Order: sequence, then structure tokens, then C-alpha cells
Amino acid sequence: MADKKHILILGGGISGLSLAYYLRKKFPSVKITLLEKNNRLGGVIETIQGPYFFEKGPRTFRTTSSRVLLALIQELNLEGEIAPASRSATSRYLCLDGALHALPKSPIGMLKSPLIQNFWKTFFKEIRAKKGLIDETVYDFALRRFGKYYTETFFDPLILGIYAGDIKKLSIRMALPFFKELEDAFGSIFLGLLKRKKNKEKPLIACLEKASLFSMKNGLSTLVNRLQERINCEILTSFDIEKVDTSSDQVVVHGKGLTVEGDVVFSALPFPVTKKLFSLPFDIDCVSISCVHLGYRQNVLSKDGFGYLVPSKEREDILGCVFDSSIFPSQNQKNSETRLTVMIKNKDPSALVETAKNALKKHLKVDVEPDFVSISPYENFLPQYELAHENKMLALQNRKSYFVGNYLSGVSVNDCIKTSKKMAEQFCF
Ligand SMILES: Cc1cc2nc3c(=O)[nH]c(=O)nc-3n(C[C@H](O)[C@H](O)[C@H](O)COP(=O)(O)OP(=O)(O)OC[C@H]3O[C@@H](n4cnc5c(N)ncnc54)[C@H](O)[C@@H]3O)c2cc1C
Repeated sequence: MADKKHILILGGGISGLSLAYYLRKKFPSVKITLLEKNNRLGGVIETIQGPYFFEKGPRTFRTTSSRVLLALIQELNLEGEIAPASRSATSRYLCLDGALHALPKSPIGMLKSPLIQNFWKTFFKEIRAKKGLIDETVYDFALRRFGKYYTETFFDPLILGIYAGDIKKLSIRMALPFFKELEDAFGSIFLGLLKRKKNKEKPLIACLEKASLFSMKNGLSTLVNRLQERINCEILTSFDIEKVDTSSDQVVVHGKGLTVEGDVVFSALPFPVTKKLFSLPFDIDCVSISCVHLGYRQNVLSKDGFGYLVPSKEREDILGCVFDSSIFPSQNQKNSETRLTVMIKNKDPSALVETAKNALKKHLKVDVEPDFVSISPYENFLPQYELAHENKMLALQNRKSYFVGNYLSGVSVNDCIKTSKKMAEQFCF
């Protein structure tokens, strides 16, 4: 019976593509149609191959927290395409008082770092701190356990780096589950980190044994292309969905002058589009960010590393900068070149390049003109996991439609694939 059914998937980003992949594995002969507004698949995953190699959207994945992504890469026979990050990518910086300061990498480094203030006092405060509420903001959690200095200096930029978000609004449980899990399991973050280290899991893929981060040699578009080859679906690109009608037995999806009918519909669209098309009864704030990619033919960096973040208390225009050429030197087209991506929140588009260049001049003393500049704007894109987020998600259950995407249970590519995989496993006609 299921063989005669027709599944519609709306949106061809990694959520929609991975959902199509797992549904195809489960239902080898069912008809699946994937509808996508752009003339290409991948959503925010997009690789610029030249004259300087850049990932416009996601580029780095943590080895330890990307098991679903790595398993998918293995299934798709793309292990040989994995690019482990360079060793220097473990060096990360914070911008404080306009200058970069290296984050400590080890317990001894912590004791020596000028960024770490009153270490032993903070350590004893943290291990003795009482458990908080079931959920609280990242700010309240960090303040309770570590105090104001650590909250504003470390937790704030961490949240800016992942969500471009406000620590006074985001939920610790949803936005930084790792910390909440340590508190729940060990009663303390410090003690949890010490105990957990002993049970460190081996990475799924051998070449990542020594690399904490990875990407793909020829860009993430390799993953998108391989998924497209494997899903064996009808793919309708340049299909801008304007209306979804679920009022009868059949679902009818309307685009400009086109309609497609199916038995069941899955939305893998960004939250603002899903909310409008499916009249969802709640809102999720989605923050706009832009990336400015700058390529230089010479080495303009005085430091190697992953890059730096700028805490809100610095009142700067940028969120941070990623040293792409230093993290993945194998993606450089010339040995001497430098590739940088500056992340900026909510800024007038005409001011983005100047803002990026001014920040690089101030923080890194880069005052040569870039040889290449490209801008990637993401409007209302990053979902903010605020308090009571899970309650909102309850409104998505028991509807005639199904939902996947980065606003359900994590924004990372790994989280999106995990959400789609779980949806495919649980779904039945
Ligand atoms: C700049 C940036 C850097 C990031 N860096 C990382 C990183 O390093 N590591 C990491 O793990 N994650 C990173 N992320 C997060 C991660 O990339 C995203 O959360 C994830 O890729 C979202 O995938 P998605 O398929 O849910 O959404 P999308 O990629 O947005 O896909 C949704 C699709 O729906 C389509 N669509 C929209 N409206 C319509 C319509 N009306 N009709 C038809 N189709 C429509 C869109 O065109 C798009 O193809 C980053 C995100 C950004 C923006």
C-alpha cells in the first residue's frame, strides 16, 4: 500500500535532503518529490570554488559532536573527502579592549592565562553551586555557577558565535545542552569535564583521530551533490512555494502557476516560511547575520588559529572572524594566500565591507586591500532557542503535516540531519 503513496518534501537544504535520503532508505519504492525555490540544492550550504575557496555558510564541524553527519558521510562513501582541520585551529582568540587574547587550551594554560581571573575562587564557587531550575537563561546559569566576569567574557561570545544570540534570552537546555547535561549528571561543569574525559569516544573516522574539527576537501557542496544523486526523487527546483493546502485528503502545494499533489507533506523550510505557509500559532525570533569573505594573495595574518569572537561588552560591530586559510590550508589555492570570513549581525548591507575591513585593521592590523570580497547575507535565519522553546514545539505535533529544520532541536548541520533521521525513523503511513 505504502508503495502507491506520494511524499512531498518542501525545501532542499540539508534538512530536506537528508530527510529524503532516510525516507528513501525506509521506503525504497514510494514516490518522493522535493520542491525547492532556488535553482540549486543545499540551502545555506554553498561553496565558492574560486578565485578563493570559501564556504558561504557552514564550514566547520566538531569531530566529537558530529556522529550523525560522519555516519552519513560514511554511508555515502565520502570518507576520502574529509578535510581534518590543521593543528593550529585549536588556537582560538577573544577580542578584549580591541586586542586579541589566546584562549587557554589546557588546565595548565588556564592557570597561566591572563584571561582567567581568580581561578581557584571560581573553581570552588562552581563545584559548590546549587543546581538551577529545570530551565533558565544561559546568563542566569553561567552567573550562578561562574560569576559575572566569566559569563560576559566566555558564555556571551560562545552564544554569539553559534546563534548570534542574547545570553539573557536563550535557554541553557536548548542552546548549550552540553553544559546543562554536565550539571545534571555531575553537579558541576568542572567535575563533569574532568570525569567525562576518561570516557572519551573514538571518532568514527580514523583520519579525525587527532583533529577536533573537520570539513570537506572540495567543499560541502560535495555532500549536497552526493545526496542529490542517491535520493532517487523527483526534484523540482525554481519552485517558489506560495501556499500549502492540507484541508482535504490530498495535500496541494501551490507555486507560481504550478501545483503538486501528494499524500503527505514534510516542511524542511526555514522557520519564518514554515510559520507563514502552515499558520503556526507561535513565533521564534530568527536573527539576521551576514558573512563578508575576504581573500588576500599574501599572508596578512600575524597569528594562526581558528579565529576570534568579540564579546557584546566590547560594543563592536562584528561578531567575530574565522581564519579559513589557517584552519584548512589544504583549501588554499596558493600557499601564501589568506582567506578570512567576518561575521556581522544586523547591519546595513552597504556598510558590511567597510565594517569588516575596519575591524580587521583594528584587531589584526590588516591594512592592505583584499583582492577578493564576497558578501553572503542571511535574513531572519538563525532561530533563537529561548525559554519554553520545547512547549512551542508541542504545537507541531498531531498536525497533518510534519516538520524538520534547524529550529527544532539544534542549528548545526549535524543537528539538522539528526532531526531528519529521527523523523524518517518515526514516520509511518
Ligand atoms: C553563515 C552560517 C554559518 C554556519 N556555520 C555552521 C557551521 O560551521 N557548522 C554547522 O554545523 N552549522 C553551521 N551553520 C548552521 C547550519 O548551516 C544551518 O542551520 C543548516 O544548514 C540549516 O539547514 P536547513 O536545511 O534546515 O535550512 P536551509 O539551508 O535554509 O534550507 C531551506 C531551504 O528551503 C528553501 N526555501 C525557502 N523558502 C522557500 C519557498 N517559499 N519555496 C521553496 N523553497 C523554499 C531555501 O531556498 C533552502 O534551500 C551556519 C549557518 C550560517 C547561516
